[in-house]
Amino acid sequence: MTIYHPFYRRGSRAARVGMALLRLSQAVKALTTAEAVELGLTPVQAQALLFVRYTKPFLASVGKLAEALGVTHVTAIGVLDGLVRHGLVEKTASPLDRRVTLLRLTPAGEEVCQRLSRFGHTLEEALAKLGDADMEALERGLGALVWSLREAGVLQVAEPCRGCVHFQENAAPGSPEPHRCQLIQRYLSEAESELACPDYTPSRPAL
Ligand code: SF4
Repeated sequence: MTIYHPFYRRGSRAARVGMALLRLSQAVKALTTAEAVELGLTPVQAQALLFVRYTKPFLASVGKLAEALGVTHVTAIGVLDGLVRHGLVEKTASPLDRRVTLLRLTPAGEEVCQRLSRFGHTLEEALAKLGDADMEALERGLGALVWSLREAGVLQVAEPCRGCVHFQENAAPGSPEPHRCQLIQRYLSEAESELACPDYTPSRPAL
């Protein structure tokens, strides 16, 4: 598919880079669609499964999934219903708040996620062809762009706890849940701290 955009009429370097990013987004969309279809999933179903797999279990709710996908609650429920029907995801009420529906993978869902481990490999292989200096410059530039879009509220970035301003590492040494999140006032196991959180708040740009 060819992209047409008003960037064509603007001569600035920012417009040229913006056009390149639009073309890349189109290519990434086509690649992820092809990779998901190979596994019998739509791209959004693949994203939903990966959200459940990599998000802290107590945050893997329908509402957070809708935010992560950038869709309405109703649309997120529609995506989940397909995954539930295929026996890949289960819904349970949160023990802390019965109004919140938490999501978890079934063994069949875990198996599909294993097969999704190569999701995005075509893009990774293309990037690996860049030299070290180009890769470093790209990483720095894209990191700054992601930071700026995140600050503008148009991009959500979920990350593990380390580097988050709310994270207190080893707040309870020797306990099974040694870390603490000051935002949600909760102790966390090492495994929980390593899973992604949509409320991750870095103190400064990572790059
Ligand atoms: S807000 Fe920060 S510290 Fe708290 S769970 Fe999320 S990433 Fe971890």
